[in-house]
Amino acid sequence: MISGPSGVGKGTIRNALLPRVDNLQVSISATTRKPRSNEVNAREYFFVSEDEFRELIAEDKLIEWACVYSNLYGTPRDFVMKSLEKGLDVLLEIDIQGAMQVKEKMPEGVFIFIAPPSIDELIERLCNRGQDSQESIEARFAASQKEMSYMKEYDYVVVNDNLADAVKKTESIIIAERCKIN
Ligand code: 5GP
Repeated sequence: MISGPSGVGKGTIRNALLPRVDNLQVSISATTRKPRSNEVNAREYFFVSEDEFRELIAEDKLIEWACVYSNLYGTPRDFVMKSLEKGLDVLLEIDIQGAMQVKEKMPEGVFIFIAPPSIDELIERLCNRGQDSQESIEARFAASQKEMSYMKEYDYVVVNDNLADAVKKTESIIIAERCKIN
């Protein structure tokens, strides 16, 4: 699982890992957020209504879920369990509240915290993404400062100061974990 503050580059690292690491399955989350212009339903997310999301919760179909910046996000259980049964490693790219729930339920998972090189850089990335409103950027920044304090709950930290290096480090962690005896 990769997790960390918004705007830190988790999604970019995840996308770069896919062609490099075999037997890796990305989990597609459900969300009530509206799709951005470049997003396609069932590719980036399953875009659902709030009612549909509440139904997924009521039917216990999500491993974890959280409200992130006024939208709901959750990891569909069936898909993850089926992929694990097939012997695949499942990559979750989720926020810290969700990561802590997964840690409770699946402590055997590998928890990787993606950290920004500095707070200044994080602000710059949030602003340059050009996809979010000023209000949303401010909320994301305020939350990310608190989120940094959760780093100690993770197994690994990867500082994303350079994308190629961050991808290499994350890939190395996955490979090392696969070689672990216990
Ligand atoms: P975005 O709206 O920018 O795609 O994602 C906002 C935040 O929601 C990111 O920090 C992302 O990691 C997180 N997120 C995406 N999917 C999930 C999920 O299934 N569960 C949780 N808890 N967070 C998620």
